[in-house]
Amino acid sequence: MTTATLLLAAMFALGLIACGAAFRSPRAPGKHAFILAVVAALWWTAMVLLRLWTPELAGKVFFSELAWFGIVGAPMFWSAGILSYSGYRWLGTPQAAVAIALYAGFAGIAALTNDWHHGIYTGITNAERPSFAHGWLFQLVVTGTYIFMIWACITAISRLQLSQAIHRRQLYGLVAAMLLPWVANFAFVFFEFRLFNDDPTPFAFTLTSLAMLMMQEHGKLFVAPPIARDVIFNVLPDPVIVVDGDARVLEVNPAAGKLPGLTESAVGTILPASHPLRAWLDRDVNAVQPLLTIDEIEATYEVSVQQLEKWGRDGSQMIVLRDVTAREAAQQQLASASRDLAIRLNENLALQKKLAEDASRDHLTGLYNRRHASKMIPELIATLAPERAIAFSLIDLDHFKQVNDQFGHDTGDRALMGFAGILRDNIPEGGNAFRFGGEEFLIVMPGVDETEALALAARWRTRLEEESPNIVPGFKLTFSSGIAVYPHHGQSLGACTKAADVALYDAKVQGRNCDVVWRAKTSPLHIAS
Ligand code: GH3
Ligand code: MG
Ligand code: MG
Repeated sequence: MTTATLLLAAMFALGLIACGAAFRSPRAPGKHAFILAVVAALWWTAMVLLRLWTPELAGKVFFSELAWFGIVGAPMFWSAGILSYSGYRWLGTPQAAVAIALYAGFAGIAALTNDWHHGIYTGITNAERPSFAHGWLFQLVVTGTYIFMIWACITAISRLQLSQAIHRRQLYGLVAAMLLPWVANFAFVFFEFRLFNDDPTPFAFTLTSLAMLMMQEHGKLFVAPPIARDVIFNVLPDPVIVVDGDARVLEVNPAAGKLPGLTESAVGTILPASHPLRAWLDRDVNAVQPLLTIDEIEATYEVSVQQLEKWGRDGSQMIVLRDVTAREAAQQQLASASRDLAIRLNENLALQKKLAEDASRDHLTGLYNRRHASKMIPELIATLAPERAIAFSLIDLDHFKQVNDQFGHDTGDRALMGFAGILRDNIPEGGNAFRFGGEEFLIVMPGVDETEALALAARWRTRLEEESPNIVPGFKLTFSSGIAVYPHHGQSLGACTKAADVALYDAKVQGRNCDVVWRAKTSPLHIAS
């Protein structure tokens, strides 16, 4: 057995392994064409092996003729594989495979029937190998094959530009795997280049099988093919528009075609100055992009603009829009909901404040009520320094029952309001007047001692004397008051009001229309009027 046959047998095995691996791979563009190419190359190799083992010339010629199925099939199928991989998907279909098989079959049958027409070869030039003088049909078949291979090469090379990373490497591998046997065949046919005194092409197919195996192992040839690159632009849900420096629309994808003013017919025309997209052209791409709202379709988009200087038309730009209508609407809803919430919250707070205020006031006189006194005065006592005095004057109108009886309840009410007004206008700063009971009032005055409290009571009395004729004509309104001073007469609100009440009682006993300062029972009552 010669080195050549050993080598051919080894590459035959390699080709089988490569095909086996390809069969187990996922479906991919061109996969079956590549497998068929390797199968055709195996056929070619097998025929060469059989020729080498056959001693007589007739047998050698017979196997040389049989080899033609593979000689044409291998490059044709490989080219179809490359074309299918590069986007001509129809060249990977069973119909295309049948067509190529018919072409290769035609070449093989033409070779087998050469004795009748002498189209493939016209004579045998070397009886040992053997070599042939080629005929017109040979030129025809080989030219057809070469045209197909050149098409595949040009397509693959132009695809390299658009491919990236792994797909670029796959393309390089596919082209290289085709070029090697091609170069070998070319050198043999036109320059009589030989390997082991024979056609080097089948040997070169060793490298094709090896390349296919390597690309499957390391290049993910059938695992990760570029299957969607051609359709990405069309199926993208985001509108994409390409314009040149004159704002001429160069390309729109179907999503962009749905936008107003950007239908298919807009391609090639200048985007009108009024079109909302015009504002986005020439904008600084790094600047924060505001949103584009197209009122006609009530849609809002995020806009990104890419400069396309390198693509052959100055000032070209690609605009990609992202529909954010739903997001913006949700955001606005959220904002308006939180605004509403803030307004309601404020209304609630105001209402609460008003309710609290109402609850602390007496409706007739507008003064604070007794409940508020019980809340506010302990707080006041707690905040003031212990040594600071607080005067408590408890006031009761004299013979008030008579006012109601003689002049009616309404006049009584007016008298209460009038007196409340006098108190409100004549209490020192920081002091507060409370309606403590029916016609009873408590005046609380921080920082006021008993002398000052008596002076103030005198002033209220004077004011009441002046106002009484206006408030209840024909009745002289007077009051009696009891005075207690915190902390000398009591240590709490309760103690002080109780002391003031005792003093008030004394004032009434004393004959009314007078003011009494509380004294312990041991000390004589201090009466002032
Ligand atoms: P005295 O000098 O002893 O205090 O005599 P008086 O008549 O004031 O006696 P008393 O305190 O018993 O009477 C208070 C009266 O005040 C009884 C009640 O009819 C009247 N009064 C209490 N609240 C109101 C009110 O809101 N409006 C009116 N018009 N009268 C009220
Ligand atoms: Mg009373
Ligand atoms: Mg009274």
